[in-house]
Parts: sequence; structure tokens; C-alpha cells
Amino acid sequence: MPILFLLISLFWILPTPDLPPGIQRLQKAYPDFIAKADANSITFKDGSVFTYDDGKKNKSFQELLDQPDLEDQFRYPYPQKFPGKEGILVNQDPGRIRFMPFYMKMYGNTQEEVRANLREIIWLPKTIGAKILVTKVNGVDKKLEAISQELDKLPALKQYLENPGGTFLWRVIKGTNRLSMHSFGMTIDINVKYSHYWQWDCKCTNEDAKLGYKNNIPKQVVDIFEKHGFIWGGKWYHYDSMHFEYRPEFL
Ligand SMILES: [Zn+2]
Repeated sequence: MPILFLLISLFWILPTPDLPPGIQRLQKAYPDFIAKADANSITFKDGSVFTYDDGKKNKSFQELLDQPDLEDQFRYPYPQKFPGKEGILVNQDPGRIRFMPFYMKMYGNTQEEVRANLREIIWLPKTIGAKILVTKVNGVDKKLEAISQELDKLPALKQYLENPGGTFLWRVIKGTNRLSMHSFGMTIDINVKYSHYWQWDCKCTNEDAKLGYKNNIPKQVVDIFEKHGFIWGGKWYHYDSMHFEYRPEFL
């Protein structure tokens, strides 16, 4: 008995090896789904297991987009700072590298599965009142309602938020075979009229295009979305300033 007691005590005293920061971020971001993790895998509550690092090094930027693992998602840290005139360094796109099976597992593998989780909410009920479809998974509907309530109190921002460009639409990203995050109902495009998208400006879809950063969306809008777990496409070298996506693992 004393030996057993000693072993148990040792177990508690010895530090457990730290998990990679990216795994810790995912665990914190998705408690509804993740049951446990070890140094290189994440286990969901239904028993499915995702490998964190596929061991492949030196992926090109295009490979990071096309064949990422969960670890690659964290290649570029999401900046707290709002981008200024200096723009954004080439390919710094935190959040654009997405290991899709992980998100399909949570939000749905097919359009029908995603639809089964959607709920209609009213976007800025007092000042705009647009109906939008969003997912209930991970409480995204509640988070967007909270964002909506806050923005509704700031009428000076209305022009950027009215005529939202879209939430749920099962589709691939133009010029790619990759599924858009709009397919999951956890992403919103605000008013297209005040927004900039790199593909529209370069009139191209190639990732190695030389881009000049552009943005008109005020920091106040971005701060409110970020507070509720949404990252902003205006913090990407391949900028998409209308685009907000629920990715709390970056914040
Ligand atoms: Zn978008």
C-alpha cells in the first residue's frame, strides 16, 4: 500500500510534459468536442482521433493551403495589432491555412449535415434587421447575436454592416478545390461595398501575386468580432476585409 501511495504521489508531483501550444489552443477553443489530447493527437468525444503534426517539413505556401495538418494552421500567429499603412508581410495569413476534416467533423461533412445545425438570427435588429443563417455548433449563433447587439448600439458603423455579403453558402473558394468556411455557417461577410478582396484587386487567383494591402473597415468593428472569437480576413496578406470567421483558437 505505501508503495502505491508513493507512486500516486510521484504522478502528481512530476510535471506532465507540456502539450504543443497549438493543441492547447484547440482544446481551449472547442471544449464541446475535444475529450483529450496527447503530444501529437487530439481525441474527440465520439472517439475520432486527429493527428496534430503529419511530420512533413518544408511545405511550400501552396502546400500549406492544399495539404495542411493541424500544426500548419498555426504557422503564422494572428496579430493583435490592427494593420496600418505598412501592410502585411508576404503570405502572413493566420487562419487561411485550414485542416478541413477537423472543421467538417464539428460543423458537418455535407451541406445537409451543416443545414441541420443552422438557425436564423436577426443581424443588428434595431438598425439593420437582416435575417442571416448561422450554425448553432460551438454556440456560434449566440456569439453572433452578442456581436450583433454590440454593433447595434454603434449607428456610425451601420454602413459597413448593412447588406451583409453572406453567411451560409456551401461552396468552394473561387480558383481552388478547397471548401470555403462559408460552407459551415460560422463565417460572415459584412457589406461588400466597403470591403477589399485580394482577388478582386489583382484580378487573379494565384497565391504568388504581388499585392498591395487595402482596407476601409474600422478597427472598432474588428475589435468586437475578435472579442467573441472571430478572426478577420483584413489581417491577412491575401486580404479579405469583409470576412469574419469563428476561429477562437487564434485569439
Ligand atoms: Zn467570406
